[in-house]
Amino acid sequence: MHAIPKNPDLHCHSTVSDGWLSPTDVVQRAARNGVDFLALTDHDETGGLVEAQAAATESGIRLVPGVEVSVSWGGETIHVVGLGVDADNPVLQAGLIQLRAGRHTRAQQMSDALAALGIRGVLDGALTFARNPALVSRAHFARHLVAIGLMPNVDAVFKHYLVRGKPGFVETKWADLADAVQWIRAAGGVPVVAHPGRYRLSDIEMERLLARFVDAGGQGIEVVSGSHSDAKVSKFARYARRFDLLASRASDFHGEQESRVDLGRCAPLPDGVVPVWSRLIDRF
Ligand code: AMP
Ligand code: MN
Ligand code: MN
Ligand code: MN
Repeated sequence: MHAIPKNPDLHCHSTVSDGWLSPTDVVQRAARNGVDFLALTDHDETGGLVEAQAAATESGIRLVPGVEVSVSWGGETIHVVGLGVDADNPVLQAGLIQLRAGRHTRAQQMSDALAALGIRGVLDGALTFARNPALVSRAHFARHLVAIGLMPNVDAVFKHYLVRGKPGFVETKWADLADAVQWIRAAGGVPVVAHPGRYRLSDIEMERLLARFVDAGGQGIEVVSGSHSDAKVSKFARYARRFDLLASRASDFHGEQESRVDLGRCAPLPDGVVPVWSRLIDRF
């Protein structure tokens, strides 16, 4: 009855955060690509889930309600995906509201910092790319800065302007790791460390992060991610076993123009890990 999915994809974005496609279009594209178990995980926002569920019912695929929570840990920004959350949970929503307010302040500060370099009106420009004005991401800034011809592509904008040490970067205090895990657990979700291969952490620091995450109630890790090489898949499969974490498979798809891996096109999970969907298939 609770069939094991053949092509799960448990991390992607819609226009409710910094994806290019509406929740309906994300679900339809996933279905066309053969995804049968999809989590929509917009940044700090669950506003796309009702529409996504309707589209999933229509397309005949199973939708896992999700969210990607921004966390500050040891001076790094870490993302924790919550899978199978009840979006109406007041604890989760209170946390996400705080994070979105912090985004608003940061966006104004980023715009001011860029104005000081003579690049004016950047917040208004970024907002033309943000279909949800409550959720402005650096990705929207990057798209605007490409549109005005400042840099040839989004990657170059990040590299030269939007990462730590560059003039448009503004330090932000996101959620505490343990708080983010607790909000997700309170909402009945499974907390998963997103794209661990992207963080600038030494092995020792990664081990500290995972120990802390497990301590706080964290349960999963993205072993296969759109941003992982084969070597990273093996490395994080080892960490999943060592820390007894469930393994996820996640494209982190944002749109054709900005993602290396399309919905449902990640490698399969390697042997010897426990799939995170084993905890979700009886509920979704
Ligand atoms: P934010 O949560 O507003 O700090 O924005 C983070 C988002 O920016 C990520 O979820 C990606 O969508 C995008 N992003 C981050 N780093 C890069 C990069 N180097 N190149 C392209 N997009 C990036
Ligand atoms: Mn994003
Ligand atoms: Mn992320
Ligand atoms: Mn993501």
